[in-house]
Amino acid sequence: MRRRITVFGATGSIGENTIDLLTRQGGPESYDVVALSGGRNIARLAEQARDLQADLAVTAYPECYDDLKAALAGSGVEAAAGPEALVEAADRPSDWIMSSIVGAAGLVPGMRALKHGTTLALANKESLVTAGPLLLATAEQHKTRILPVDSEHSAVFQALVGEDIDAVERVVITASGGAFRDWPIEDLEKATPEQASSHPNWAMGQRITVDSASMFNKALELIETKEYFGIAPEKIDAVVHPESMIHALVGFRDGALMAHLGAPDMRHAIGYALNWPDRADLPVARLDLVELGQLNFRAACETRWPALRLAREVMAAGGLTGAAFNASKEAALDAFLGRQIKFTQMSQVVEAVLEALSRDGGLTNTEISLENVLHVDHLAREEAARVVATLEH
Ligand code: NAD
Ligand code: MG
Repeated sequence: MRRRITVFGATGSIGENTIDLLTRQGGPESYDVVALSGGRNIARLAEQARDLQADLAVTAYPECYDDLKAALAGSGVEAAAGPEALVEAADRPSDWIMSSIVGAAGLVPGMRALKHGTTLALANKESLVTAGPLLLATAEQHKTRILPVDSEHSAVFQALVGEDIDAVERVVITASGGAFRDWPIEDLEKATPEQASSHPNWAMGQRITVDSASMFNKALELIETKEYFGIAPEKIDAVVHPESMIHALVGFRDGALMAHLGAPDMRHAIGYALNWPDRADLPVARLDLVELGQLNFRAACETRWPALRLAREVMAAGGLTGAAFNASKEAALDAFLGRQIKFTQMSQVVEAVLEALSRDGGLTNTEISLENVLHVDHLAREEAARVVATLEH
């Protein structure tokens, strides 16, 4: 059966890898591409839409509409722009949607797709961190599935095939340690956005690359693990594994520890979600264990990476704490990239915002509705801006 496919964030790092796999698996010969979305890289979005013969291409930015329309002239691909157009794209009947917009902006289109019963391949971890229970309940209500695309969560998902979740004793999420894993801690405050934007093992978008250096990415992933798999926080751990060959491990009550190994190439996790429940031939490098020789592990130090400590607090608190955590993290990241704060001040901003917003049970006494999530997201960004303004840089 031909599947109808939509890719949100098609021009990003995950999006391009998704397009690569769709193309290798036959492109328009095999799939009906309903919609592709992107940002300001209009030339690339239009090229993807033409190549895959998409019905619709959407740019997130209304001011880019004319350029997109011009770039698509004569192609038969419809052009649209803005957040409402993204939601409208999510309303178009589709069988499989890749959610790979970066940031909380990915939540609404993903939720919308679930309401139509579409399978949601989820790279946008922010959706689970901000609104995990809501997302899962929506999928259940509309009898559809969320397939994890974050490499660690795809690894756990694969290790759990045929297993009883109650037999899981622990889940270990690996972390490369990012750009500064070998820096002396006292040098971290001098780290620049340029230095934080290079990853030792993975080629990814800039925001997640900086989040890897600060371990906010791993913090999001710990929360994502709790939300997606429903595993108790005390059973979830992060360990530094500089080679990024093991993506995650699942320990069972009998002491068995199942590891998922693979080259650091996101096409594995994307391809697994695209072909699930089958396995397809994927163009990823095969590991030569002898050449690899050894794999290393280190403790993930919460002094070096305070984001990990904050993740524990978020997991323990629950409710809307994840929404505040993610939004303040996004705001702190913007402030760091804009050179308003130091690298080490990002976690200070997030901690201050969590403290301010969680007073009087403000984040845990409220229902997790889309409206409340978006409200907390807004409040957290405002509070983060206030905190940033008080910090000395
Ligand atoms: P990226 O920055 O390379 O691409 C982001 C995409 O989203 C682009 O198409 C961009 O145009 C679009 N976009 C950005 N802001 C938008 C907005 N406000 N509204 C609509 N569209 C917007 O990011 P990425 O590295 O591909 O990451 C995408 C998501 O996947 C993130 O949630 C990230 O955490 C997650 N993820 C990425 C990787 C990876 O290897 N890159 C791995 C695991 C998870
Ligand atoms: Mg990951």
